Amino acid sequence: MSRVDGTVLFAWDDGALVKAKVTQCALSRVCGACGGSLARPVAFVGTAEEVGRNAFHAPPLHEACAADVRRLLDPSWETVLTGGFEFVRPAKHDEDKRPTFEPNSLL
Ligand SMILES: [Zn+2]
Repeated sequence: MSRVDGTVLFAWDDGALVKAKVTQCALSRVCGACGGSLARPVAFVGTAEEVGRNAFHAPPLHEACAADVRRLLDPSWETVLTGGFEFVRPAKHDEDKRPTFEPNSLL
């Protein structure tokens, strides 16, 4: 956990994603900001490029928590809402070794 501007973000440490926490969010379906259980809809935040690819590096969030994350980390990020998502681990040959989240039923 880390504090950004006095707010604890479960999956970030000093504004950088913590891989183990991201994986925990994916497998346990908990929010990357508050660590609480997720319900529908699930929110993802990311750059316009991530939105365009429908592949996000940041873990799933509650809709309200997504607003907090953007406010604290990068207000230029966009939010998408989805009913579900796939957790995609990088393949051996992938240059980007980070897992991604792919929303599969955008709302
Ligand atoms: Zn939350």
